[in-house]
Amino acid sequence: MILQPEEAKVSVYDRGFLYGDSVFETIRTYAGEPFALDEHLARLERSAGRVAIPLPLPRADFALEIRRAIRAARNPESYVRAMITRGSGPMGLDTGLAEKALRVVLVEPLQALPATMYRDGVAVTTFKTRRAADEVAQGAKVSNYLTSMMALKEARAAGAHEALILDGSGDVLEGTTSNVFALTQGVLVTPPEEAGILVGITRAHVLEVAGELGIPVRVERLPLETLRSATEVFITSTLREIVPVVRVDGQEIGARVPGRTTRAIHAAFRQKVGLGAEPLPWEKAGD
Ligand code: PMP
Repeated sequence: MILQPEEAKVSVYDRGFLYGDSVFETIRTYAGEPFALDEHLARLERSAGRVAIPLPLPRADFALEIRRAIRAARNPESYVRAMITRGSGPMGLDTGLAEKALRVVLVEPLQALPATMYRDGVAVTTFKTRRAADEVAQGAKVSNYLTSMMALKEARAAGAHEALILDGSGDVLEGTTSNVFALTQGVLVTPPEEAGILVGITRAHVLEVAGELGIPVRVERLPLETLRSATEVFITSTLREIVPVVRVDGQEIGARVPGRTTRAIHAAFRQKVGLGAEPLPWEKAGD
């Protein structure tokens, strides 16, 4: 059923609303097609499995519904959120109270990040409050983003674009809705899944293109000091692709401008999503 947002209704007893008892994916389109839809749906299934939410329909049928929703929205490009909640039922934490899992697909026009951010790079801050690894969710994309929200609020108050979240030992984990990479002594480093991150789909594509470009890669813990002394830093996410980071907590990174490796990886990523013939995001900003 495709509805306008003002017509769509969800119960106040929905457990996604009451307890954050839901999982989701953020997907974007290129030329109207959802990018890496299979990978997103596989991750959604893994997320649902980790918190024992039964899938309300087979993956292939959900893919069809998502494609149908995108077509109906008729946006030039879309920002899609596909979510599954455990459903509604009487209040109480017992998951058995939920009657039937609910699925919702939201489709909005995609708002690209300003081209100047790709051209000049962005500032990030590190979130003061440390985050422990969530051994229950174990990297599932569950709908509790309060840590990310508080971190982003702090970053925005400091005039930064994104916040990096650290663990108790001071290692960098990820951004509020992004993964993080640092080029240090010619090696591209990104934190491992075991550190307690969301294993990003863009991250996986970046690791692949880095390999193709012959850039040495290590998936290992990333102490804040290593990040600070890196020659290049960038963040990755579905909606933003690859964003160069030129300042961390006010301190400049490398040569203070987006680096060559970041650029090369982003250009290769654009080939991958089928935009190889288009101007690169930073070129659209002019000089
Ligand atoms: N980490 C977190 C916490 C996120 O919410 C996201 C965005 N989904 C990412 C990393 C980046 O993942 P992806 O490349 O799959 O969008």
